[in-house]
Amino acid sequence: MAGLAAAEEIIALAAAAQAPTEITLVEAAGRVGGVLSTVCRDGWLIERSADNFLAARPEAVQLVERLGLQDQLVGVDPRVRRALVWHDGRAVPAPQGFRLLAPGRIGSILSTPLLSPLGRLRLIAERFVPPRSAQGDESLESFVVRRLGREAFERLVQPLAAGIWTADPARLSMAAACGEFLAMEREQGSLWAGERRRARAGTAPSAAGARYGQFLTLRSGMHTLPERLAERLRDQGVRFIDAAAAGVERLPGDGWQISLADTAGADAAIDADAVVLAVPAPVAGRLLASVEPALAADLQGIDYAGSAVISLGFARTDVAHPLDAAGMVIPRRAKRRILAVSFSSSKFPGRAPEGCVLLRVFAGGAVDPEVVRLDDAAIEAVARAEVAELLGARGTPRIVQIDRWHAAMPQYHVGHVERAARIMERTAAIHGLGLAGAAYTGVGIPQVIASGQAAARHACRRPVTP
Ligand SMILES: Cc1cc2nc3c(=O)[nH]c(=O)nc-3n(C[C@H](O)[C@H](O)[C@H](O)COP(=O)(O)OP(=O)(O)OC[C@H]3O[C@@H](n4cnc5c(N)ncnc54)[C@H](O)[C@@H]3O)c2cc1C
Repeated sequence: MAGLAAAEEIIALAAAAQAPTEITLVEAAGRVGGVLSTVCRDGWLIERSADNFLAARPEAVQLVERLGLQDQLVGVDPRVRRALVWHDGRAVPAPQGFRLLAPGRIGSILSTPLLSPLGRLRLIAERFVPPRSAQGDESLESFVVRRLGREAFERLVQPLAAGIWTADPARLSMAAACGEFLAMEREQGSLWAGERRRARAGTAPSAAGARYGQFLTLRSGMHTLPERLAERLRDQGVRFIDAAAAGVERLPGDGWQISLADTAGADAAIDADAVVLAVPAPVAGRLLASVEPALAADLQGIDYAGSAVISLGFARTDVAHPLDAAGMVIPRRAKRRILAVSFSSSKFPGRAPEGCVLLRVFAGGAVDPEVVRLDDAAIEAVARAEVAELLGARGTPRIVQIDRWHAAMPQYHVGHVERAARIMERTAAIHGLGLAGAAYTGVGIPQVIASGQAAARHACRRPVTP
Protein backbone atom coordinates (compact mmCIF):
# COMPACT_ATOMS: atom_id res chain seq x y z
CA MET A 1 0.00 0.00 0.00
CA ALA A 2 2.88 2.36 0.82
CA GLY A 3 4.52 1.77 -2.57
CA LEU A 4 1.30 2.36 -4.48
CA ALA A 5 0.68 5.55 -2.49
CA ALA A 6 4.21 6.70 -3.34
CA ALA A 7 3.63 6.10 -7.06
CA GLU A 8 0.38 8.06 -6.96
CA GLU A 9 2.13 10.96 -5.22
CA ILE A 10 4.99 11.00 -7.76
CA ILE A 11 2.44 11.28 -10.58
CA ALA A 12 0.83 14.24 -8.79
CA LEU A 13 4.22 15.90 -8.25
CA ALA A 14 5.20 15.39 -11.87
CA ALA A 15 1.89 16.79 -13.08
CA ALA A 16 2.30 19.87 -10.87
CA ALA A 17 5.84 20.41 -12.17
CA GLN A 18 4.77 19.56 -15.74
CA ALA A 19 7.70 17.17 -15.81
CA PRO A 20 7.34 13.97 -17.84
CA THR A 21 8.03 11.05 -15.51
CA GLU A 22 8.40 7.32 -15.98
CA ILE A 23 7.51 5.19 -12.99
CA THR A 24 8.22 1.49 -12.55
CA LEU A 25 6.70 -0.39 -9.66
CA VAL A 26 8.58 -3.55 -8.73
CA GLU A 27 6.53 -6.06 -6.72
CA ALA A 28 7.85 -9.46 -5.64
CA ALA A 29 4.58 -11.14 -4.63
CA GLY A 30 2.92 -11.33 -8.05
CA ARG A 31 -0.04 -9.29 -6.80
CA VAL A 32 -0.41 -5.79 -5.37
CA GLY A 33 -1.55 -4.87 -1.86
CA GLY A 34 1.06 -6.55 0.34
CA VAL A 35 -0.72 -7.81 3.44
CA LEU A 36 -4.03 -6.31 2.24
CA SER A 37 -5.93 -9.14 0.63
CA THR A 38 -9.53 -10.38 0.56
CA VAL A 39 -11.04 -13.76 -0.28
CA CYS A 40 -14.57 -13.79 -1.73
CA ARG A 41 -16.05 -17.29 -1.99
CA ASP A 42 -19.57 -18.77 -1.93
CA GLY A 43 -21.13 -15.69 -0.32
CA TRP A 44 -18.32 -15.23 2.26
CA LEU A 45 -16.08 -12.17 2.27
CA ILE A 46 -12.96 -12.87 4.31
CA GLU A 47 -10.25 -10.32 5.00
CA ARG A 48 -6.89 -12.05 5.16
CA SER A 49 -5.32 -9.30 7.30
CA ALA A 50 -6.60 -5.74 7.96
CA ASP A 51 -10.38 -5.44 7.90
CA ASN A 52 -10.72 -1.74 8.67
CA PHE A 53 -8.94 1.58 8.93
CA LEU A 54 -9.28 4.62 11.14
CA ALA A 55 -11.18 7.65 9.87
CA ALA A 56 -9.45 9.91 12.41
CA ARG A 57 -6.56 10.46 9.98
CA PRO A 58 -7.54 11.67 6.53
CA GLU A 59 -5.17 9.80 4.19
CA ALA A 60 -7.10 6.57 3.65
CA VAL A 61 -10.51 8.23 3.32
CA GLN A 62 -9.11 10.79 0.89
CA LEU A 63 -7.58 8.02 -1.21
CA VAL A 64 -10.92 6.18 -1.21
CA GLU A 65 -12.58 9.38 -2.41
CA ARG A 66 -9.95 10.04 -5.11
CA LEU A 67 -10.60 6.54 -6.41
CA GLY A 68 -14.35 7.15 -6.48
CA LEU A 69 -14.97 4.39 -3.94
CA GLN A 70 -16.77 6.48 -1.31
CA ASP A 71 -20.04 4.61 -1.91
CA GLN A 72 -18.23 1.51 -0.71
CA LEU A 73 -17.33 2.98 2.68
CA VAL A 74 -19.09 1.41 5.61
CA GLY A 75 -18.59 1.84 9.35
CA VAL A 76 -18.84 -0.70 12.16
CA ASP A 77 -22.51 -1.47 12.93
CA PRO A 78 -23.43 0.97 15.77
CA ARG A 79 -25.14 -1.88 17.65
CA VAL A 80 -21.86 -3.71 18.18
CA ARG A 81 -19.43 -0.85 18.86
CA ARG A 82 -17.94 -2.40 22.01
CA ALA A 83 -15.25 -4.91 22.86
CA LEU A 84 -15.57 -7.92 25.13
CA VAL A 85 -12.77 -9.17 27.35
CA TRP A 86 -12.46 -12.81 28.42
CA HIS A 87 -12.44 -12.90 32.22
CA ASP A 88 -12.89 -15.75 34.68
CA GLY A 89 -14.50 -18.02 32.12
CA ARG A 90 -16.89 -15.50 30.55
CA ALA A 91 -17.01 -12.58 28.11
CA VAL A 92 -17.30 -9.22 29.87
CA PRO A 93 -17.69 -5.82 28.12
CA ALA A 94 -14.74 -3.43 28.52
CA PRO A 95 -15.87 -0.51 30.73
CA GLN A 96 -17.77 2.07 28.72
CA GLY A 97 -15.66 5.07 27.79
CA PHE A 98 -12.35 3.26 28.53
CA ARG A 99 -10.11 4.27 25.63
CA LEU A 100 -7.32 1.68 25.23
CA LEU A 101 -5.51 2.87 28.35
CA ALA A 102 -7.29 6.03 29.40
CA PRO A 103 -9.90 5.72 32.16
CA GLY A 104 -13.29 6.86 30.95
CA ARG A 105 -16.32 7.13 33.16
CA ILE A 106 -16.00 6.51 36.92
CA GLY A 107 -19.38 4.76 37.02
CA SER A 108 -18.41 2.16 34.44
CA ILE A 109 -15.07 1.52 36.16
CA LEU A 110 -16.71 1.16 39.58
CA SER A 111 -19.16 -1.38 38.23
CA THR A 112 -16.92 -3.45 35.94
CA PRO A 113 -16.65 -7.09 36.94
CA LEU A 114 -13.30 -7.18 35.12
CA LEU A 115 -11.48 -5.71 38.12
CA SER A 116 -11.46 -6.48 41.83
CA PRO A 117 -12.67 -3.68 44.18
CA LEU A 118 -9.04 -2.80 44.88
CA GLY A 119 -8.16 -2.86 41.16
CA ARG A 120 -11.05 -0.47 40.43
CA LEU A 121 -9.96 1.96 43.16
CA ARG A 122 -6.38 1.79 41.91
CA LEU A 123 -7.55 2.62 38.40
CA ILE A 124 -9.65 5.53 39.64
CA ALA A 125 -6.68 6.80 41.68
CA GLU A 126 -4.76 7.32 38.41
CA ARG A 127 -5.44 11.05 38.67
CA PHE A 128 -3.34 11.22 41.86
CA VAL A 129 -0.31 9.40 40.44
CA PRO A 130 2.40 12.01 39.87
CA PRO A 131 3.88 12.22 36.37
CA ARG A 132 7.19 10.46 35.88
CA SER A 133 10.05 12.84 36.41
CA ALA A 134 12.35 11.07 33.94
CA GLN A 135 11.86 12.24 30.39
CA GLY A 136 12.03 9.88 27.46
CA ASP A 137 10.49 6.67 26.31
CA GLU A 138 9.04 3.85 28.39
CA SER A 139 7.35 0.53 27.66
CA LEU A 140 3.55 0.25 27.53
CA GLU A 141 3.64 -2.19 30.45
CA SER A 142 5.77 0.07 32.63
CA PHE A 143 3.60 3.12 31.88
CA VAL A 144 0.28 1.39 32.49
CA VAL A 145 1.35 -0.46 35.64
CA ARG A 146 2.74 2.80 37.02
CA ARG A 147 -0.37 4.83 36.23
CA LEU A 148 -3.31 2.39 36.35
CA GLY A 149 -1.99 -0.50 38.44
CA ARG A 150 -0.97 -4.04 37.52
CA GLU A 151 -4.49 -5.43 37.60
CA ALA A 152 -5.85 -2.96 35.03
CA PHE A 153 -2.81 -3.68 32.89
CA GLU A 154 -3.19 -7.47 32.97
CA ARG A 155 -6.96 -7.68 32.71
CA LEU A 156 -7.75 -4.78 30.40
CA VAL A 157 -4.93 -2.93 28.66
CA GLN A 158 -2.69 -5.88 27.79
CA PRO A 159 -5.43 -7.78 25.90
CA LEU A 160 -6.74 -4.65 24.16
CA ALA A 161 -3.23 -3.63 23.06
CA ALA A 162 -2.22 -7.16 21.98
CA GLY A 163 -5.09 -7.18 19.50
CA ILE A 164 -3.65 -4.05 17.84
CA TRP A 165 0.16 -4.32 17.89
CA THR A 166 0.71 -8.07 18.47
CA ALA A 167 3.66 -6.79 20.51
CA ASP A 168 5.32 -7.67 23.78
CA PRO A 169 4.00 -4.87 26.06
CA ALA A 170 7.21 -5.01 28.13
CA ARG A 171 9.03 -3.80 24.99
CA LEU A 172 6.37 -1.79 23.11
CA SER A 173 7.35 1.89 23.01
CA MET A 174 4.86 4.31 24.50
CA ALA A 175 6.35 7.14 22.46
CA ALA A 176 5.97 5.27 19.17
CA ALA A 177 2.66 3.49 19.75
CA CYS A 178 0.77 5.64 22.28
CA GLY A 179 2.36 9.08 22.06
CA GLU A 180 -1.01 10.75 22.71
CA PHE A 181 -1.26 9.20 26.19
CA LEU A 182 2.37 9.95 27.02
CA ALA A 183 1.70 13.59 26.15
CA MET A 184 -1.42 13.62 28.37
CA GLU A 185 0.68 12.63 31.36
CA ARG A 186 3.36 15.18 30.55
CA GLU A 187 1.02 18.06 29.75
CA GLN A 188 -2.08 17.45 31.89
CA GLY A 189 -0.49 15.52 34.77
CA SER A 190 -2.68 12.43 34.35
CA LEU A 191 -4.66 10.46 31.79
CA TRP A 192 -7.80 11.30 33.72
CA ALA A 193 -7.15 15.05 33.34
CA GLY A 194 -6.19 14.53 29.70
CA GLU A 195 -9.42 12.70 28.94
CA ARG A 196 -11.51 15.33 30.71
CA ARG A 197 -9.79 18.07 28.74
CA ARG A 198 -10.42 16.12 25.56
CA ALA A 199 -14.10 15.77 26.46
CA ARG A 200 -14.39 19.50 27.30
CA ALA A 201 -12.72 20.44 24.04
CA GLY A 202 -15.32 18.14 22.46
CA THR A 203 -12.57 16.51 20.39
CA ALA A 204 -14.77 16.18 17.40
CA PRO A 205 -14.50 13.10 15.23
CA SER A 206 -12.90 13.81 11.87
CA ALA A 207 -15.31 14.82 9.12
CA ALA A 208 -15.14 11.31 7.68
CA GLY A 209 -15.54 9.81 11.15
CA ALA A 210 -18.68 11.85 11.74
CA ARG A 211 -20.06 10.78 8.37
CA TYR A 212 -19.25 7.09 8.39
CA GLY A 213 -17.96 6.13 11.89
CA GLN A 214 -14.44 5.89 13.30
CA PHE A 215 -13.55 2.43 11.93
CA LEU A 216 -14.24 2.01 8.24
CA THR A 217 -14.06 -0.72 5.69
CA LEU A 218 -14.99 -1.17 2.03
CA ARG A 219 -18.08 -3.23 1.24
CA SER A 220 -16.24 -5.17 -1.43
CA GLY A 221 -13.25 -5.82 0.83
CA MET A 222 -9.99 -4.10 1.67
CA HIS A 223 -8.28 -5.50 -1.44
CA THR A 224 -10.35 -3.05 -3.48
CA LEU A 225 -8.15 -0.19 -2.27
CA PRO A 226 -4.76 -1.37 -3.61
CA GLU A 227 -6.30 -3.05 -6.65
CA ARG A 228 -8.27 -0.01 -7.74
CA LEU A 229 -5.24 2.24 -7.16
CA ALA A 230 -3.02 -0.11 -9.16
CA GLU A 231 -5.55 -0.06 -12.01
CA ARG A 232 -5.54 3.75 -11.96
CA LEU A 233 -1.71 3.83 -11.93
CA ARG A 234 -1.55 1.43 -14.89
CA ASP A 235 -3.94 3.69 -16.79
CA GLN A 236 -1.63 6.60 -16.00
CA GLY A 237 1.32 4.76 -17.52
CA VAL A 238 3.02 3.22 -14.48
CA ARG A 239 4.87 0.06 -15.49
CA PHE A 240 4.44 -2.90 -13.10
CA ILE A 241 7.17 -5.54 -12.95
CA ASP A 242 6.71 -8.91 -11.19
CA ALA A 243 10.15 -9.32 -9.66
CA ALA A 244 12.06 -8.93 -6.45
CA ALA A 245 14.44 -6.01 -6.07
CA ALA A 246 17.73 -7.75 -5.31
CA GLY A 247 20.07 -4.78 -4.94
CA VAL A 248 20.20 -1.01 -5.06
CA GLU A 249 23.31 0.88 -6.15
CA ARG A 250 24.07 4.55 -6.62
CA LEU A 251 25.31 5.30 -10.07
CA PRO A 252 28.33 7.54 -10.54
CA GLY A 253 27.04 11.08 -10.85
CA ASP A 254 23.41 11.13 -9.85
CA GLY A 255 21.05 8.23 -10.13
CA TRP A 256 20.25 4.70 -9.07
CA GLN A 257 20.33 1.19 -10.40
CA ILE A 258 17.92 -1.41 -9.03
CA SER A 259 18.79 -4.98 -9.91
CA LEU A 260 15.98 -7.51 -10.14
CA ALA A 261 15.74 -11.22 -9.36
CA ASP A 262 13.41 -13.81 -10.98
CA THR A 263 12.43 -11.34 -13.63
CA ALA A 264 10.79 -13.87 -15.96
CA GLY A 265 11.81 -11.98 -19.01
CA ALA A 266 11.67 -8.44 -17.62
CA ASP A 267 14.69 -6.13 -17.43
CA ALA A 268 17.41 -7.41 -15.12
CA ALA A 269 18.08 -3.92 -13.87
CA ILE A 270 16.35 -0.56 -13.87
CA ASP A 271 18.09 2.80 -13.93
CA ALA A 272 16.26 5.59 -12.17
CA ASP A 273 16.69 9.16 -11.00
CA ALA A 274 15.00 8.36 -7.71
CA VAL A 275 13.96 5.27 -5.78
CA VAL A 276 11.37 4.70 -3.06
CA LEU A 277 11.83 1.52 -1.03
CA ALA A 278 8.40 0.53 0.31
CA VAL A 279 9.46 -2.89 1.57
CA PRO A 280 9.80 -4.24 5.13
CA ALA A 281 12.69 -2.52 6.94
CA PRO A 282 15.08 -5.52 6.98
CA VAL A 283 14.63 -5.89 3.20
CA ALA A 284 15.36 -2.17 2.75
CA GLY A 285 18.41 -2.67 4.97
CA ARG A 286 19.72 -5.52 2.80
CA LEU A 287 19.11 -3.54 -0.38
CA LEU A 288 20.95 -0.50 0.98
CA ALA A 289 23.87 -2.41 2.53
CA SER A 290 26.42 -1.02 0.12
CA VAL A 291 24.84 2.44 -0.19
CA GLU A 292 24.87 3.45 3.48
CA PRO A 293 25.96 0.75 5.95
CA ALA A 294 24.91 2.72 9.07
CA LEU A 295 21.40 3.26 7.65
CA ALA A 296 21.24 -0.40 6.61
CA ALA A 297 22.17 -1.51 10.13
CA ASP A 298 19.45 0.64 11.71
CA LEU A 299 16.89 -0.75 9.26
CA GLN A 300 17.89 -4.32 9.97
CA GLY A 301 17.60 -3.65 13.69
CA ILE A 302 13.81 -3.26 13.47
CA ASP A 303 12.24 -6.52 14.68
CA TYR A 304 9.11 -8.03 13.15
CA ALA A 305 6.51 -10.40 14.63
CA GLY A 306 4.27 -12.85 12.83
CA SER A 307 0.64 -13.67 13.41
CA ALA A 308 -2.04 -15.95 12.05
CA VAL A 309 -5.64 -15.19 11.18
CA ILE A 310 -7.93 -18.22 11.17
CA SER A 311 -11.32 -17.33 9.69
CA LEU A 312 -14.13 -19.70 10.55
CA GLY A 313 -17.65 -19.49 9.11
CA PHE A 314 -20.47 -21.19 11.01
CA ALA A 315 -24.21 -21.59 10.70
CA ARG A 316 -25.69 -18.99 13.08
CA THR A 317 -27.44 -21.77 14.98
CA ASP A 318 -24.08 -23.45 15.67
CA VAL A 319 -22.78 -20.50 17.76
CA ALA A 320 -24.32 -20.03 21.18
CA HIS A 321 -22.94 -16.54 21.87
CA PRO A 322 -25.08 -13.62 20.62
CA LEU A 323 -21.96 -12.00 19.01
CA ASP A 324 -23.32 -8.61 20.08
CA ALA A 325 -19.94 -6.84 20.03
CA ALA A 326 -17.14 -6.10 17.57
CA GLY A 327 -15.13 -8.92 19.06
CA MET A 328 -13.41 -10.31 22.10
CA VAL A 329 -9.84 -9.96 23.37
CA ILE A 330 -8.20 -12.54 25.56
CA PRO A 331 -5.73 -11.58 28.33
CA ARG A 332 -2.44 -13.40 28.42
CA ARG A 333 -3.11 -14.38 32.02
CA ALA A 334 -6.00 -16.56 30.78
CA LYS A 335 -3.26 -18.79 29.27
CA ARG A 336 -5.17 -19.48 26.07
CA ARG A 337 -3.69 -19.91 22.59
CA ILE A 338 -5.35 -16.96 20.85
CA LEU A 339 -5.16 -13.18 21.16
CA ALA A 340 -8.60 -12.12 19.96
CA VAL A 341 -11.69 -13.05 17.96
CA SER A 342 -13.26 -10.51 15.64
CA PHE A 343 -16.99 -10.95 15.04
CA SER A 344 -16.72 -10.02 11.35
CA SER A 345 -20.30 -10.57 10.32
CA SER A 346 -21.55 -8.56 13.31
CA LYS A 347 -19.28 -5.63 12.45
CA PHE A 348 -19.79 -5.30 8.73
CA PRO A 349 -22.54 -6.28 6.26
CA GLY A 350 -22.03 -8.88 3.56
CA ARG A 351 -19.33 -10.96 5.28
CA ALA A 352 -21.34 -14.21 5.55
CA PRO A 353 -24.21 -15.80 3.64
CA GLU A 354 -27.73 -15.56 5.09
CA GLY A 355 -28.05 -17.55 8.30
CA CYS A 356 -24.28 -17.77 8.87
CA VAL A 357 -21.65 -15.91 10.92
CA LEU A 358 -17.97 -15.24 10.30
CA LEU A 359 -15.40 -15.25 13.11
CA ARG A 360 -11.76 -14.21 12.60
CA VAL A 361 -9.42 -15.68 15.19
CA PHE A 362 -6.05 -13.97 15.79
CA ALA A 363 -3.10 -15.90 17.16
CA GLY A 364 0.64 -15.49 17.51
CA GLY A 365 2.34 -12.14 17.90
CA ALA A 366 5.62 -11.41 19.65
CA VAL A 367 4.70 -13.32 22.81
CA ASP A 368 3.49 -16.56 21.17
CA PRO A 369 5.49 -17.03 17.95
CA GLU A 370 5.15 -20.85 18.02
CA VAL A 371 1.47 -21.00 17.08
CA VAL A 372 2.13 -19.43 13.64
CA ARG A 373 4.45 -22.35 12.82
CA LEU A 374 1.77 -25.02 13.37
CA ASP A 375 0.54 -26.79 10.26
CA ASP A 376 -2.95 -26.06 8.89
CA ALA A 377 -4.70 -28.93 10.66
CA ALA A 378 -3.13 -28.05 14.01
CA ILE A 379 -3.78 -24.32 13.79
CA GLU A 380 -7.39 -24.91 12.72
CA ALA A 381 -7.83 -27.29 15.67
CA VAL A 382 -6.48 -24.63 18.06
CA ALA A 383 -8.86 -21.97 16.69
CA ARG A 384 -11.88 -24.29 16.71
CA ALA A 385 -11.22 -25.48 20.26
CA GLU A 386 -10.92 -21.87 21.43
CA VAL A 387 -14.11 -20.59 19.77
CA ALA A 388 -15.95 -23.69 21.04
CA GLU A 389 -15.02 -22.84 24.61
CA LEU A 390 -15.14 -19.03 24.39
CA LEU A 391 -18.23 -18.59 22.22
CA GLY A 392 -19.96 -21.96 22.19
CA ALA A 393 -19.21 -22.44 18.46
CA ARG A 394 -19.93 -26.11 17.73
CA GLY A 395 -20.18 -28.24 14.65
CA THR A 396 -18.16 -28.18 11.48
CA PRO A 397 -17.33 -24.74 10.09
CA ARG A 398 -18.89 -24.02 6.70
CA ILE A 399 -15.66 -22.34 5.61
CA VAL A 400 -12.09 -22.20 6.93
CA GLN A 401 -9.44 -19.79 5.72
CA ILE A 402 -5.98 -19.83 7.32
CA ASP A 403 -3.55 -16.96 6.78
CA ARG A 404 -0.11 -16.83 8.31
CA TRP A 405 1.74 -13.53 8.24
CA HIS A 406 5.35 -14.31 9.03
CA ALA A 407 7.39 -11.31 10.15
CA ALA A 408 4.66 -8.95 8.91
CA MET A 409 4.24 -6.59 11.85
CA PRO A 410 7.11 -4.21 12.71
CA GLN A 411 7.75 -4.07 16.43
CA TYR A 412 8.04 -0.56 17.83
CA HIS A 413 10.33 -1.34 20.77
CA VAL A 414 11.29 1.31 23.33
CA GLY A 415 13.63 3.70 21.49
CA HIS A 416 11.84 3.23 18.15
CA VAL A 417 11.05 6.93 17.73
CA GLU A 418 14.76 7.81 17.93
CA ARG A 419 15.67 4.98 15.56
CA ALA A 420 13.00 6.01 13.04
CA ALA A 421 14.13 9.67 13.26
CA ARG A 422 17.75 8.58 12.69
CA ILE A 423 16.68 6.50 9.70
CA MET A 424 14.71 9.37 8.19
CA GLU A 425 17.57 11.81 8.79
CA ARG A 426 20.10 9.52 7.12
CA THR A 427 17.70 8.90 4.25
CA ALA A 428 17.11 12.61 3.78
CA ALA A 429 20.85 13.10 3.36
CA ILE A 430 20.85 10.76 0.34
CA HIS A 431 19.57 12.42 -2.78
CA GLY A 432 16.85 10.58 -4.65
CA LEU A 433 16.01 8.06 -1.91
CA GLY A 434 12.75 7.60 -0.01
CA LEU A 435 11.73 4.97 2.55
CA ALA A 436 8.09 4.09 3.14
CA GLY A 437 5.97 1.54 4.93
CA ALA A 438 4.70 0.41 8.29
CA ALA A 439 8.16 0.16 9.85
CA TYR A 440 8.64 3.80 10.72
CA THR A 441 5.88 6.07 11.99
CA GLY A 442 2.70 4.01 12.20
CA VAL A 443 1.40 0.60 11.20
CA GLY A 444 -2.19 1.66 10.43
CA ILE A 445 -3.31 1.97 6.81
CA PRO A 446 -3.68 5.80 6.86
CA GLN A 447 -0.15 6.16 8.30
CA VAL A 448 1.25 3.76 5.73
CA ILE A 449 -0.35 5.76 2.90
CA ALA A 450 1.07 8.96 4.44
CA SER A 451 4.52 7.36 4.61
CA GLY A 452 4.39 6.54 0.88
CA GLN A 453 3.39 10.08 0.03
CA ALA A 454 6.15 11.56 2.20
CA ALA A 455 8.77 9.20 0.77
CA ALA A 456 7.78 10.21 -2.76
CA ARG A 457 8.23 13.88 -1.91
CA HIS A 458 11.63 13.14 -0.34
CA ALA A 459 12.87 11.05 -3.22
CA CYS A 460 11.75 13.53 -5.87
CA ARG A 461 12.85 16.77 -4.28
CA ARG A 462 15.42 18.66 -6.26
CA PRO A 463 18.98 18.71 -4.99
CA VAL A 464 19.93 21.89 -3.19
CA THR A 465 22.61 23.58 -5.22
CA PRO A 466 24.94 25.89 -3.31
C1 LIG B 1 -2.91 -9.62 10.31
C2 LIG B 1 -2.85 -8.13 10.18
C3 LIG B 1 -3.98 -7.37 10.50
C4 LIG B 1 -3.94 -5.98 10.38
N1 LIG B 1 -5.07 -5.26 10.67
C5 LIG B 1 -5.08 -3.92 10.45
C6 LIG B 1 -6.28 -3.18 10.56
O1 LIG B 1 -7.36 -3.73 10.84
N2 LIG B 1 -6.23 -1.84 10.30
C7 LIG B 1 -5.07 -1.20 9.93
O2 LIG B 1 -5.08 0.02 9.71
N3 LIG B 1 -3.92 -1.89 9.79
C8 LIG B 1 -3.91 -3.23 10.03
N4 LIG B 1 -2.75 -3.94 9.85
C9 LIG B 1 -1.54 -3.22 9.46
C10 LIG B 1 -1.54 -2.79 8.01
O3 LIG B 1 -2.35 -3.64 7.24
C11 LIG B 1 -0.10 -2.85 7.49
O4 LIG B 1 0.77 -2.16 8.37
C12 LIG B 1 0.03 -2.22 6.10
O5 LIG B 1 -0.92 -2.73 5.20
C13 LIG B 1 1.44 -2.47 5.60
O6 LIG B 1 1.62 -1.87 4.33
P1 LIG B 1 3.08 -1.71 3.74
O7 LIG B 1 2.93 -1.16 2.38
O8 LIG B 1 3.93 -0.97 4.70
O9 LIG B 1 3.72 -3.15 3.74
P2 LIG B 1 3.32 -4.56 3.08
O10 LIG B 1 1.87 -4.70 2.96
O11 LIG B 1 4.08 -5.57 3.89
O12 LIG B 1 3.95 -4.47 1.62
C14 LIG B 1 5.29 -4.65 1.37
C15 LIG B 1 5.40 -5.08 -0.09
O13 LIG B 1 6.77 -5.20 -0.45
C16 LIG B 1 6.90 -6.32 -1.31
N5 LIG B 1 8.31 -6.73 -1.28
C17 LIG B 1 9.02 -7.22 -0.25
N6 LIG B 1 10.29 -7.44 -0.62
C18 LIG B 1 10.40 -7.05 -1.92
C19 LIG B 1 11.47 -7.01 -2.86
N7 LIG B 1 12.71 -7.40 -2.54
N8 LIG B 1 11.22 -6.55 -4.11
C20 LIG B 1 9.97 -6.14 -4.46
N9 LIG B 1 8.92 -6.16 -3.60
C21 LIG B 1 9.14 -6.61 -2.36
C22 LIG B 1 5.94 -7.33 -0.71
O14 LIG B 1 5.64 -8.35 -1.64
C23 LIG B 1 4.76 -6.44 -0.35
O15 LIG B 1 3.86 -6.32 -1.42
C24 LIG B 1 -2.76 -5.33 9.95
C25 LIG B 1 -1.64 -6.09 9.62
C26 LIG B 1 -1.68 -7.47 9.74
C27 LIG B 1 -0.46 -8.28 9.36
